[in-house]
Amino acid sequence: MAKQIIMASPRGFCAGVERAIWAVEKAIEAYGKPVYVKHQIVHNTHVVKALEEKGAVFVESLEEVPEGSRLIFSAHGVPPKAREEAEARKLKVIDATCPLVTKVHMEARRYAKEGCSIILVGHKDHVEIEGTAGEAPEATQVIETEEDIQTLTVPDESKMVCLTQTTLSMDDTRKVTDALKKRFPKIIFPPKEDICYATQNRQNAVKQISGKIDILLVIGSKQSSNSNRLVDVAREKGVKAYLINDVTEIKREWLNGVEKAGLSSGASAPEHLVKQAAEYLRKLGISEVVEEGNGPENIKFVMPKI
Ligand code: SF4
Repeated sequence: MAKQIIMASPRGFCAGVERAIWAVEKAIEAYGKPVYVKHQIVHNTHVVKALEEKGAVFVESLEEVPEGSRLIFSAHGVPPKAREEAEARKLKVIDATCPLVTKVHMEARRYAKEGCSIILVGHKDHVEIEGTAGEAPEATQVIETEEDIQTLTVPDESKMVCLTQTTLSMDDTRKVTDALKKRFPKIIFPPKEDICYATQNRQNAVKQISGKIDILLVIGSKQSSNSNRLVDVAREKGVKAYLINDVTEIKREWLNGVEKAGLSSGASAPEHLVKQAAEYLRKLGISEVVEEGNGPENIKFVMPKI
């Protein structure tokens, strides 16, 4: 059998990440440095470092931002209280929240206004969940697993809605939403799924190649939810899978006996890091490189006003 690298397609940057990085670069170009960014603009250490070198300053608290400065909200979105705080500090805000995250915020606001209890499926400590839950904190309960459903109580079971984080595992989320439907048959789901197109397409591409590979390397940072889920998807298919920041984290022993290696990357990981990993594998003798999956995406978002 030929030794092969199978590159999952699509992989890497999604439209929301491209938009957020564009916003930081354009703001620095237009206004000079520093430009402050609430939280990592996207969850990738290489991207963050490159933007820091250009003049971005990443902060977790708005108290770190001098009054009147320019502030960018990251792709993950922020709760309304962060917008109020920015206004109080007279910060000039550029909003790089991904439009697909904004869609979930709008759903949370709408359903809360209609008097629904919101069950938000996602990772409790993830910044996107903090932002979405912040839209209607009194009406929202965050759950992660099927077990969490057992302890849920709501004032009126006929007025419940389920929303989700955009970057979850599609299969794990289906298990949770099926269990929710079983316990609360009247719970409603928004007409269009909250897990975003980029998360779905990258997971589907990994599923497609999983039957053919001995190992999957996913380029992405540890904080990147969608990158972690790509590793989970491969492992559920019985494939050895590792999340790595870049080529320097590949361990030679992982590749012993490997005939076919898969490569993918999270929605916030730059393509040049994938190319470096492929080059490393080529030097070890895995010479044939093929692309598999449903191919590149053609989605673009309107850029934020700078
Ligand atoms: S992963 Fe999805 S929700 Fe997140 S920035 Fe990309 S398109 Fe938007």
